[in-house]
Amino acid sequence: MTLLSLSRGFNAGLQIRPRWPARQVQIDSQVLSKLQTIQAKLPAEIGLILTRGYERRASSLGFTRIHFRALGVRLFCLLYPGRRTEIMDIFGSNGHDIDGTHVDVSFLINGRRMRMLPLGVFTPLFWQQHRTRKCAVSLAQIQAALREEGFQIHRNATESLQIHCDYIL
Ligand SMILES: [Zn+2]
Repeated sequence: MTLLSLSRGFNAGLQIRPRWPARQVQIDSQVLSKLQTIQAKLPAEIGLILTRGYERRASSLGFTRIHFRALGVRLFCLLYPGRRTEIMDIFGSNGHDIDGTHVDVSFLINGRRMRMLPLGVFTPLFWQQHRTRKCAVSLAQIQAALREEGFQIHRNATESLQIHCDYIL
């Protein structure tokens, strides 16, 4: 496995946009080429955006994520006391601290970024469902293409909109 560090921009047709506060996305080279294959297969109006990949735990980015996660869990519990069972799925590192095969992707339709989670993981479920319905066709195409190329999409509804997926070698 080769880990690549990508800055914001385009890489063989795939858009790279590191999620704040990251400045680069680290990804396994094989996973990158799979995402590029998926981008090439998707209808022209759909653009994939790679936002997050491997993040080393013992790095300033890793520490920042851990710090925000602790705050996030507290806020999430206050807002959604009935959704405590989702905390591990939503706030766990979900493999991002293991290697570059665990990625988050986002997408554009006709050049417009589709924000499925306008308030991040704190977006209320009814709002998520409303957004999902609006982009249902494109979202289904993206998810099907990811699965076909060997990605597993996260089982949690919020994470699946993130779109967190794991490349299964
Ligand atoms: Zn993720």
